Amino acid sequence: MLATTIAGSLPKPAWLAEPETLWARWRVARESLAEAQRDAVLVALRDQETAGIDVVTDGEQSRQHFVHGFLERLEGIDFDKRVTIGIRADRYKAEVPTVTGPVARRAPVHLEDVRWARAHTDRRLKFTIPGPMTIVDTLADEHYRDRVRLAFAFARVINEEAGELVAAGLDVLQLDEPAFNVYMDDVAAWGIEALHRATEGLTCTTAVHICYGYGIKANVEWKKTLGAEWRQYERTFPLLAASRIDQVSLECANSRVPLELLDLLRGKDVMAGVIDVATHAVETPDEVAARIRQVMRHVEPSRLLPCTNCGMVPLPREVARAKLRALGAGARLVRRELGRE
Ligand code: ZN
Repeated sequence: MLATTIAGSLPKPAWLAEPETLWARWRVARESLAEAQRDAVLVALRDQETAGIDVVTDGEQSRQHFVHGFLERLEGIDFDKRVTIGIRADRYKAEVPTVTGPVARRAPVHLEDVRWARAHTDRRLKFTIPGPMTIVDTLADEHYRDRVRLAFAFARVINEEAGELVAAGLDVLQLDEPAFNVYMDDVAAWGIEALHRATEGLTCTTAVHICYGYGIKANVEWKKTLGAEWRQYERTFPLLAASRIDQVSLECANSRVPLELLDLLRGKDVMAGVIDVATHAVETPDEVAARIRQVMRHVEPSRLLPCTNCGMVPLPREVARAKLRALGAGARLVRRELGRE
């Protein structure tokens, strides 16, 4: 109970990529990059294990961008044809590649990453892949010209990939869908269906991560416009509760999400963000424990996974490590109270 996990990413070592930067360029020559990324994965696993994180990830050490990292090896996407567009309903600008033909997966994308991580940890292993709606929102499209058709094409590709990752020993596949907090009508119309297609037939635990974005300025500014209560989840949680997805993540720490919205997720595992990634201030274990207890008023401990609000890639490495330790220690405090440790 109260198994801890992280949203996905951790900071990269300064020898691998420029620190404290989203989408930072690699600092290692191409011929050594894969080996350097694998070394960084070992450190990321070790950091999580030492902190007492139960469900670990590779820290997304092999990806420059959480969406484009998955797209780089797919067919039909032209990375030389980059355009700058407004994404997440024009919340911020991003340089994105262009879909120029049918999307297809000719070879595994992350299989070696999962094999490597699997070989180096005994903990439950989670891997993150961008969800279909978020992929579609982080691309330019000159071929399908239809967001639903394009999303379903990506769902098929994700499903092919995920099947191989599960065969390699993956325990949890997490689809990242920050776009679910932006396009709530689309979630109902086709977003859940896209998740179902992406996870069809998988024998692992399936999860969806829905956040208010990295702790970067554009997102912090956007959050200020969302009012006293953030009720985006109120639209999507009932749909997710009725879906075949096993686990749902949400932001709790320093967010204005009313915790009673958690009642809408009854029957699902809940990854509750009890670590704020938008501040360098490190939580104390007592603060983390207090947040976990608040969430436990709405979620039974066997269904609750204390988690980070979002990815930690833009944070200083020492801050991220300290937050990991606070997460592990806070969950231990509550487990002890419950007589389970
Ligand atoms: Zn996130």
